[in-house]
Amino acid sequence: MTSATAPRARVPGPAVGRESRATQSSLREANLALVAATVCASAEPLSRADVAGRTSMTRSTVSRLVDDLVGGGVLDELEPGVVTGRGRPATPLVPGAGIAALGLQVDAGFLAARVLDLRGRVVAGRVVDGAFVGSDPTVVLPLLAALADEVLADLAPGIRLVGAGLALPGLVSPSGTALLVAPNLGWADLEAGHLPVVGGMVPRVGNEADLAARTVAEVAPGRPGPLADFVYLSGEVGIGGSLVLDGRGMPGRHGWAGEIGHVPVDPDGPACPCGSTGCLERYVGRAALLTAAGLPPTASGRDLADAARAGEPSAVSAVARAAWALGVVLAGVVNVLDIPAVVLGGHLAQVADLLRPDLEEHLRTRSLSARWVAPTVTSAGEDPAAGASGAALRELSEVLAHPADWAGAA
Ligand SMILES: [Zn+2]
Repeated sequence: MTSATAPRARVPGPAVGRESRATQSSLREANLALVAATVCASAEPLSRADVAGRTSMTRSTVSRLVDDLVGGGVLDELEPGVVTGRGRPATPLVPGAGIAALGLQVDAGFLAARVLDLRGRVVAGRVVDGAFVGSDPTVVLPLLAALADEVLADLAPGIRLVGAGLALPGLVSPSGTALLVAPNLGWADLEAGHLPVVGGMVPRVGNEADLAARTVAEVAPGRPGPLADFVYLSGEVGIGGSLVLDGRGMPGRHGWAGEIGHVPVDPDGPACPCGSTGCLERYVGRAALLTAAGLPPTASGRDLADAARAGEPSAVSAVARAAWALGVVLAGVVNVLDIPAVVLGGHLAQVADLLRPDLEEHLRTRSLSARWVAPTVTSAGEDPAAGASGAALRELSEVLAHPADWAGAA
């Protein structure tokens, strides 16, 4: 649109044509992304008029863009059901159900594969328990591939898989093509060639906590969650961490920020597989916490919560010690980053209600700014494989960032 009125003086004709076409093409791509994002961000279906109103584009422009997005499967039109003020039936627009992505996860205690569609629904998925601490990736990854194949076989016909992601509890390469190290799995230096091909794709790897945090920041592809700024802790054998500001992850220079589990609570504390001593995860990782509570390693966070509520002295003191260790480290995070909201995932979510009073008190005591904005602690919910969902969400975000790749020709 704007290119038609761009000044053309002193520029030779053919170059203008190329430039103009390029500008129109990029403008169309940006507008397609805006329309797709507007529909996906809404909790309720929108009409074309709604989209025009929210994007300040004309009805006719929106209609052309919507036609392209519907043609490409990025958006679906539902049956007209709502009558507008002018008496014309409005056709509700929703994210496309035919576009989906595969999310995979290897955890110390389970493997997961699930498929999410653009509406954020899990349309197929399985989680299988296992023991993968100190495991061999050449044994485990084929198991994961087989699980993924089973899940993909469950998919309804006509669903287009646009990407695959793999959540791993460790550091990944900035490009997402390799795992650098996952201390608790005992894995290191896994290149793309080691990764399984699933659904014809090599999955893009990502840090489990970063991907799980996505499920808090984004309740469905492109739809923001209730919290935009928070520190996420993922509780498993290890403790993963992620930092989110304005709904976006703060990955750091190399994507390695948020390793809160390896911040020392006490430098004289127990040895950690990462090579350091006294790391937070040696205090509040699942095994450490259960051992301190006198529970077997096969117990769950819920078992710990039950024991603590029943007044078992060892369980009560384990929870109190965990709140202290978390408070020491997270107050440092709040002081440095000014993000006074903590979200607990994994087994920590199962004991979040018990941790909250003491942990919030520790945070208030140790955070300089607490008098003005008191730090809060909430539970992420108890999805055992949030990392797998986050991996799928990340792939689907690519569709929303570049819907022109799926939409019909200009
Ligand atoms: Zn460590």
